[in-house]
Amino acid sequence: MPYSAPLDDYNFLFDHVVGLDKVRQHDRFEDASDDLTRAILTEAGKLCEEVMAPLQRAGDMTPSYLENGVVRTADGYADGFKAIAEGGWIGMSANPEFGGMGLPMTVTTAVNEMMSAACLSLQLAPLMSQGQIEALEHHASDAIKDIYLPKLISGEWTGTMNLTEPQAGSDVGALSSKAAENGDGTYRVSGQKIYISWGDNDFASNICHLVLARLPSAPAGTKGISLFLVPKYMPDENGEAGVANSLKVVSLEHKMGLHGSPTCVMQYDEANGWLVGPEGGGMAAMFTMMNNARLGVGCQGIGAGEGAYQHALAYALDRKQGRTPVEGGSGTIVDHADVRRMLLSMKADLFAARAIALSCAVAIDMGTATGEAEWKARAAFLTPISKAFGTR
Ligand SMILES: Cc1cc2nc3c(=O)[nH]c(=O)nc-3n(C[C@H](O)[C@H](O)[C@H](O)COP(=O)(O)OP(=O)(O)OC[C@H]3O[C@@H](n4cnc5c(N)ncnc54)[C@H](O)[C@@H]3O)c2cc1C
Repeated sequence: MPYSAPLDDYNFLFDHVVGLDKVRQHDRFEDASDDLTRAILTEAGKLCEEVMAPLQRAGDMTPSYLENGVVRTADGYADGFKAIAEGGWIGMSANPEFGGMGLPMTVTTAVNEMMSAACLSLQLAPLMSQGQIEALEHHASDAIKDIYLPKLISGEWTGTMNLTEPQAGSDVGALSSKAAENGDGTYRVSGQKIYISWGDNDFASNICHLVLARLPSAPAGTKGISLFLVPKYMPDENGEAGVANSLKVVSLEHKMGLHGSPTCVMQYDEANGWLVGPEGGGMAAMFTMMNNARLGVGCQGIGAGEGAYQHALAYALDRKQGRTPVEGGSGTIVDHADVRRMLLSMKADLFAARAIALSCAVAIDMGTATGEAEWKARAAFLTPISKAFGTR
């Protein structure tokens, strides 16, 4: 079924509920005028309706698979990702110094939700890159930023996050992946990670993994965890993907849904990487990516809900059943008060979830623009709520 981008809902929320205006009043986001924001949403809506929505079913019917150690993606996904990358949608909120657009997170959040509704499993690929970009912007050395950020923002390379291990899911502090110094500023990382979204693909020329691991003599628990950037191919002297690193995709998970997104078991065998952030500061650094992903995953829930609502409404307007309970009714089930109640409840829940996610994004933007602790605290408060309520 076609997807129709709910642009009026976003514009209403921007103007009358979450107050995008106060974000625009700060120098940092003064370019994100009302006209520009509307034009961006319209263009994103077109991409979602015309390019991404037609891929949703393809991704489910022809899931990604592993072939000779390389993940082959669903039919049309490579072209879909190219369209997302070429439109600049990956780096919407990224630093313009590295090729990003520097737009408010509020606008990115609306676009991410639309893309999730149109094709959730493909949208997860740029979402992972967005989180990694934010983590590197905040915690990586200048040398790493110079090499990786332009490639991730342009979509030439993609990013992943590697926390989970077979014995360490909710309890991340139980992870046992190890890292050791090579003596030349690099580290070698070993261990197995599971459930790694978009751990590999056949459309990016390099895959950049952010991996949590322990250095020798690190304390137990989360305080002993450090973060490493481990690329599939080591960058050569020109910053291009060079020799293969010592890591591989072992297998893909077979999931109930989300078949277009390869959820990988990754094996690292003394793979070379760089420390991101201080030793023992891995959880704090990874939380930048995780918080980005938490809001993003909340929006995925809202997007999936919007898609379900649009299907339900179309069905209710089409399905003829029983006697029409109202005079001059259409004869379809939408004439029943209880069907309308269910549809309106869905719409109201979606509106509330969207308002919470966008309020969270406004708080993030205000924190960025003003540096004020109150806004940062509000963003920290609303991020898990956006994820929990949006996904529920
Ligand atoms: C589609 C998909 C994509 C994913 N992508 C990534 C990714 O890209 N990178 C990554 O690192 N990870 C990823 N994950 C992993 C995800 O983060 C983990 O699934 C999550 O951390 C939970 O771990 P677990 O599945 O091992 O569940 P468990 O920790 O085994 O939990 C199982 C159940 O027990 C409950 N439980 C556990 N501990 C407690 C407790 N102390 N108190 C009360 N209840 C508890 C949980 O709530 C849950 O209901 C992905 C998972 C999925 C399904």
